[in-house]
Amino acid sequence: MPTSLPTIDTAPFQNSFVDEMRGEASFDNRPRQVPGYHYSRVQPTPVQDPRLLAWSDELAAYLGLARPAERGPAVDALAGNLVTDTMKPFAARYGGHQFGSWAGQLGDGRAISLGEVTATDGTPWEIQLKGAGPTPYSRRADGRAVLRSSLREFLCSEAMHYLGVPTTRALSLVRTGDLVVRDMFYNGNPQAEPGAIVARVAPTFVRFGNFQMMASAGELDNLRALADYVIRRYYPELGEPTGPEVYVRWFEEISRRTAVMLAHWMSVGFVHGVMNTDNMSILGLTIDYGPYGWLEPYDPDWTPNTTDFGSRRYAYGQQPNVGLWNLWQLARALAHLVPDPELLRPGLDLYSSTFEATRHAMMLRKLGLTSRNEADDKALFEALHEALAESEVDMTLFFRHLSHAAPAVRQDPAAAAAAWRELLAAATYSASPEEEQKLRSWLSHYQQRLQQETAAPEAIREMMLAANPKYVLRNYLAQQAIEAAEAGDLTVLERLMTVLKTPFAEQPEHEELAAKRPDWAREKPGCATLSCSS
Ligand code: AMP
Ligand code: MG
Repeated sequence: MPTSLPTIDTAPFQNSFVDEMRGEASFDNRPRQVPGYHYSRVQPTPVQDPRLLAWSDELAAYLGLARPAERGPAVDALAGNLVTDTMKPFAARYGGHQFGSWAGQLGDGRAISLGEVTATDGTPWEIQLKGAGPTPYSRRADGRAVLRSSLREFLCSEAMHYLGVPTTRALSLVRTGDLVVRDMFYNGNPQAEPGAIVARVAPTFVRFGNFQMMASAGELDNLRALADYVIRRYYPELGEPTGPEVYVRWFEEISRRTAVMLAHWMSVGFVHGVMNTDNMSILGLTIDYGPYGWLEPYDPDWTPNTTDFGSRRYAYGQQPNVGLWNLWQLARALAHLVPDPELLRPGLDLYSSTFEATRHAMMLRKLGLTSRNEADDKALFEALHEALAESEVDMTLFFRHLSHAAPAVRQDPAAAAAAWRELLAAATYSASPEEEQKLRSWLSHYQQRLQQETAAPEAIREMMLAANPKYVLRNYLAQQAIEAAEAGDLTVLERLMTVLKTPFAEQPEHEELAAKRPDWAREKPGCATLSCSS
């Protein structure tokens, strides 16, 4: 047993990005263009009275960090009030396509990386403070974050991890003691809200947009240096980046990982909400939890993001296409590293084939089926998609209840009518008899398909329960945790943290957290809709 683990203020930091990339060290936080550099050295701006609200014990144990007290030097470090000798804080320079248009330089406008700590398995993990004050990339904004959006990022990144979705992580949530003014509805009613800072953790926070920035500025040396850094550190299996073929295989691997991430999102009903290219991780991780949401009624056109209500570019059903579009933009940047841009096309094709194959395999597991006739199964999945989209069925409840009902029906076909009735009653918000009929007819096709399976009902149940979570971070649950936390009560947040650690377990004592969205949450801001104001 180690006698004592370091806290974040005593842990040694490495600074690979700062040491290996080109940085600007003026420490000038005034908003401006920063041509020629990968990053700017910055100093976090201290806050009034930092206090720890939440801490991820498992992540900390993996990183080899001890839990800090509510106040003190470790929390000061997590709030940017204390920068230790081995930290070299920086803000990265990146650009991006926002809602389909090139936006030029964006960069870390409020996220400040402290450097990397070495986890218990020897791998380095970057720690980044979101909301730690202005940087050269803050444009006209304040570099801060409010408690509501920070709590949402903290909870959801950890929840996604426990669902098995590739994601950045969150170590801590700190209340700053400062107020931050936000016009949450963009309707000219700014309000002062409690400020907060999340310490996010990932191997690296490099995004598609970092490469786009260098390419768009014609900084090809910087582009290549950043590509080589990412390949050497995070894709070592590709070997030394000595020639174009390494970049080609690298792009294929980025595409493959992005496809797997998208398949996961679709499988659990996650809607990112702002899939701009500056919000796409070069490691294929879910990154930047803003106006995201979880499908409750299954609706491919649903997006929680009010800014996107007009075009619904980032709606649930659009996400796989957007993933491809974003990779296309990355390919345009990486094309400068290869003799012929056509060499990158196989990566785009690999995205599509990997997405299809992964999605298909995940759907089979969600329905407790083993692969048989692929074309027939595709048709079965498509019919389910249509039946669900046409009725108001809660996605999570439908698949979870199906995981119990299907094996029972497989065992005793005579039980089907009652089992399906119960399933529909539990999962539907409101459905006309016609819409219900579509679902019933799909269920009877599914029942025939189930009869072809040779696995024991118990094995089918196990497969389905491991693919269909019971607990997801329903939009209204996050909102309840926020309202309680703003009033000083952390119990709702803590309970959610506990329950979302084992989202596939029954946890009968927490049944109410798996309940259908209540009526009051249907249109309520924060529950049904979210703005980008954060
Ligand atoms: P997002 O939509 O959160 O991914 O942010 C897009 C860009 O705006 C990024 O460059 C952010 O750093 C920047 N940004 C968002 N909010 C703020 C803020 N409060 N202060 C400074 N920059 C911000
Ligand atoms: Mg972002």
